[in-house]
Amino acid sequence: MTQIRTKQPAGAAQEAGRQQVFDNILGAIGNTPIVRLNRLPESPHTEVLAKLEFMNPGGSIKDRIGWWLLEDAERRGVLKPGGLVVEGTGGNTGIGLAMAAAVKGYRCVFTVADKMSEGKIKALRAFGARVVVTPTVTPDDPRNYCRVARRIADEEPNSVYIDQYNNLANRDYHYRHTGPEILRQLPDVDVLVAGLGTGGTLCGTGRFLKDQKPSLKVIGVDPVGSVLYNMYKFGQSPPVQPFLIEGIGKDCVPANIDFDLIDDVVQVEDKEAFPLTRRLLKEEGIYAGISSGSAIVGALRWIREAGEEAVGKKVLVILPDTGSRYMSKVYDDDWMAANGLLDESVGIHDEQEDE
Ligand code: PMP
Repeated sequence: MTQIRTKQPAGAAQEAGRQQVFDNILGAIGNTPIVRLNRLPESPHTEVLAKLEFMNPGGSIKDRIGWWLLEDAERRGVLKPGGLVVEGTGGNTGIGLAMAAAVKGYRCVFTVADKMSEGKIKALRAFGARVVVTPTVTPDDPRNYCRVARRIADEEPNSVYIDQYNNLANRDYHYRHTGPEILRQLPDVDVLVAGLGTGGTLCGTGRFLKDQKPSLKVIGVDPVGSVLYNMYKFGQSPPVQPFLIEGIGKDCVPANIDFDLIDDVVQVEDKEAFPLTRRLLKEEGIYAGISSGSAIVGALRWIREAGEEAVGKKVLVILPDTGSRYMSKVYDDDWMAANGLLDESVGIHDEQEDE
């Protein structure tokens, strides 16, 4: 392997933030570092940088909207002291909400589809939340996780359904905070790449950056099987098909997605995203989740297809969550092999000797 030289001393980021003392854990949200990828990019002519959202205290970008959506509900008068916070979540929004609810003194109930990683469900329970695991079914099925969440909120007194998908306060957070943060850190950013779940991250951040820099390109990443790519390209889509990537991809278009803002949507497959998530750890030392690997696959594809347009550009990719949530999946050789995803070059155990 080629050796990567660095001018910066290790720990430069900690040094810069040394004097920060916060009143509670919520103050530690945001200001996540951006690092350059040195081995994964395929062309020396385009710089690929990663924003490490797993450095948030709860391990994901969703810490950012957790407290923001609670404060939004408080401002609207729908969340009152002692209230119950109800949300359908892939896990990370639940953790962000549970962290803010712990500080603010609210109770939580989360509905989670059964395809989500065990690690996320355990983490939600560890926060003291009630977790209802629902079957992975289409949105019109009454057992769908969002429909169950809405029903619980309707039935329970003093409760609020947060609805990260359609509550526009989600993308508003990213417009007001994540966008300006990125512009401060990387004023010469040219392209923003992020996976689409609710769309809050890409559309809020992208709208702010494009308002400041109209030449900026906003690129969404969607798993094969999700409807978003087809809805963006053709205005219609075949129904959702199963995919293993977590946190991005959807069976309908959430209100937080603004297709008019987005310059392109790139599709990624499970069989590309899982091995690349491992390469991210082995080759760059970055311990991130599967949607992070997916976003990088998408960024590299966009760069390849853009050709000349990508030359000399700085491409910023959002890495939403930590790899620790996926130990039983992407970082487990047996699970990877059972799902046909184990590329021999990335097996964890392949260099170990039998005793
Ligand atoms: N990756 C992960 C792991 C997530 O949990 C989410 C949120 N569902 C996303 C990406 C997508 O972010 P957004 O909802 O802002 O589009």
